[in-house]
Amino acid sequence: ISVNQLEEARRALDAPLFADMAGDAAVSFEFFPPKSAKMEETLWEAVRTLEPLSPRFVSVTYGAGGSTRERTHATVARIQRETSLAAAAHLTCVEASRDEIDQVAEEYWAAGVRHIVALRGDPPVAGQKFQAHRDGYANAAELVAGLKKLHPFEISVAAYPECHPDSGTKAEDLDNLKRKLDAGATRAITQFFFTPEAFFRFRDAATAAGISAEIVPGILPVSNVAQTRKFAGMCGAAIPDWMDRLFEGLDDHPASRQLVAATIAAEMCRRLYAGDVRHFHFYTLNRAELSYAICHLLGLRPNKAAGAVAA
Ligand code: FAD
Repeated sequence: ISVNQLEEARRALDAPLFADMAGDAAVSFEFFPPKSAKMEETLWEAVRTLEPLSPRFVSVTYGAGGSTRERTHATVARIQRETSLAAAAHLTCVEASRDEIDQVAEEYWAAGVRHIVALRGDPPVAGQKFQAHRDGYANAAELVAGLKKLHPFEISVAAYPECHPDSGTKAEDLDNLKRKLDAGATRAITQFFFTPEAFFRFRDAATAAGISAEIVPGILPVSNVAQTRKFAGMCGAAIPDWMDRLFEGLDDHPASRQLVAATIAAEMCRRLYAGDVRHFHFYTLNRAELSYAICHLLGLRPNKAAGAVAA
């Protein structure tokens, strides 16, 4: 048994019970822009339900190749305008010139949005190698520097506990993260992962590489393993076998699937909390229930005033 394993076992044993959680964790929530009126309704129900938990910010994703440019902008601007929340806009470098990207960023600044999640983005066709636009930003680090030249945006960037598939080595991956932070990003939000150890190892390696910025774990409460496996394959995240076993036989039991999903994610958050994590970023998939339940277990309670402002 290695020193690392011993340390991990100790962290798991030391983890406080949910009953003892102080409610001192911060959270943020990620949404995607809706494609239809029905989806818009679902999204807003989720936003309104999660708002009273006073997240640090909520963010809205940007579709591959800028395909959701208008919808992302409309969603972010509406959140900023109509709620008490600080909205952050995801922005990628894919298939756009610097001028076009700068224009999008200017529109956000004009709408009062001060936080950008700056990303390279994935190639429009899955499995192809990323090709920068001829006049575009080549990667997220360049995008961060470009945005900082425009305005003093708060900027978050992506990090990969299990290494980005384009990085040759973990050291290369960390060098890239460091470039993004050195270019002006304030924090990194991670790709989802399913074992706290993956996060702790990554955070330790980042510290050893001289990275002091906050690394926020991205939490994906999974209730559909098959769908998640498809997506995880593309972004280098491993789905442990035990996850399949825990959902085995639940295909016709959606309510039980939700309970199992919340339990798995909450248990992971409990162990992350024991490792001093105090900010959790939830991939909500535009549904409030799972994230709300996990936040509740972490000790968070609604701030009635925040809800009242929003009402
Ligand atoms: P980068 O940090 O630019 O790095 C990508 C890869 O290129 C790394 O392996 C890096 O090592 C390598 N690289 C970069 N620069 C160099 C260099 N100079 N020399 C050599 N190698 C280099 N995608 C979307 O389309 N829309 C979203 O809204 C979105 N939101 C996300 C939110 C989070 C929290 C996360 C974790 C990911 C998100 N993604 C999103 C996915 C992301 O766009 C992809 O993972 C993409 O493949 C990489 O983006 P990045 O910003 O990490 O790229």
